[in-house]
Amino acid sequence: MLTVVCEKPGSLMALDRQKPARAPGETLVRIKRVGVCGTDLHIFNGNQPFLEYPRVMGHEFSGIVEQSEAGSGLEPGDVVYVMPYLSCGDCIACRQGKTNCCVRIQVLGVHRDGAFTEYLSLPHAFVLKAQGVTLDQAAMIEFLSIGAHAVRRSDIQKGQRALVVGTGPIGMAVAIFSRLRGAQVTVLDTREDRLAFCRQHLQTDAAVLIGEHDKQQLEALTQGEFFDVVYDATGNAKAMERGFEFIAHGGKYVLVSIVRDTISFSDPEFHKREATLMGSRNATVEDFRYVEQCLRDGLIPDAALNTHRMKLTEVTERFTTLLDPAQGVVKAIVEC
Ligand SMILES: [Zn+2]
Ligand SMILES: [Zn+2]
Repeated sequence: MLTVVCEKPGSLMALDRQKPARAPGETLVRIKRVGVCGTDLHIFNGNQPFLEYPRVMGHEFSGIVEQSEAGSGLEPGDVVYVMPYLSCGDCIACRQGKTNCCVRIQVLGVHRDGAFTEYLSLPHAFVLKAQGVTLDQAAMIEFLSIGAHAVRRSDIQKGQRALVVGTGPIGMAVAIFSRLRGAQVTVLDTREDRLAFCRQHLQTDAAVLIGEHDKQQLEALTQGEFFDVVYDATGNAKAMERGFEFIAHGGKYVLVSIVRDTISFSDPEFHKREATLMGSRNATVEDFRYVEQCLRDGLIPDAALNTHRMKLTEVTERFTTLLDPAQGVVKAIVEC
């Protein structure tokens, strides 16, 4: 079967690998659609921490069941999507249902080989049957769930003000789900094209360009009160530190993105607000099912989000085009 391997940073190779055999407790999935994520671009560029090469990328995917086990609830021919964070089930986090931050987490396409291939055999607990959504939509559930999880963690309420800093796909997902909860959503980014996309397709209440007078604009938008919840989705340490300035008194700050760095903040500024700081990592099965329901209900502009597509056979040639900001890529989908 065709498998695209990232041999080392900057190098993708199309290889012919043997089709995996289904082991007991597993479901064999024929992969149909794979979303390309910022993580894949980091792996390709060689700046994903703790990653061993060669690696098959791809953790946002959907497919069709090829072989399943009796009692798994899955039948050959079922459309499925995969929760790519393989959790251990018995660590301190898993025991509390927080499988998204499992101590021994293994993420497909990062810690072990992912979906830029034709078949994967996976423990059936991580293979979710898709209902009433297309293969394309099912492949978008993972990245949307990361945003949905952050919004659920923040517990933002109807009428509250949300600020989303960074409007890559994850920031856009946060904007979508905070808006679905009835929040007033402002997005902040350095890229005018991304802000225009948010205005046009996500119906954000305001979109502010990072620049000289951005803080005054945010102040004016909120009558000087700033935001009940600030979400960081920038992957930039300086931006993460600056986000503390935009938290309202009594507000929350949710760090959705990660940097390999230390971030610091002014304790008096944090304390006087009685601010809450939280991390948000991956997503749980509840988030995946909620996003699937939102897609089924037509609440997500998934067609607009899917800006690019290519075939698995074209990935080695065309992957680098996705790195060019001029392409305006939001979500690219690879078809197998
Ligand atoms: Zn991803
Ligand atoms: Zn665990």
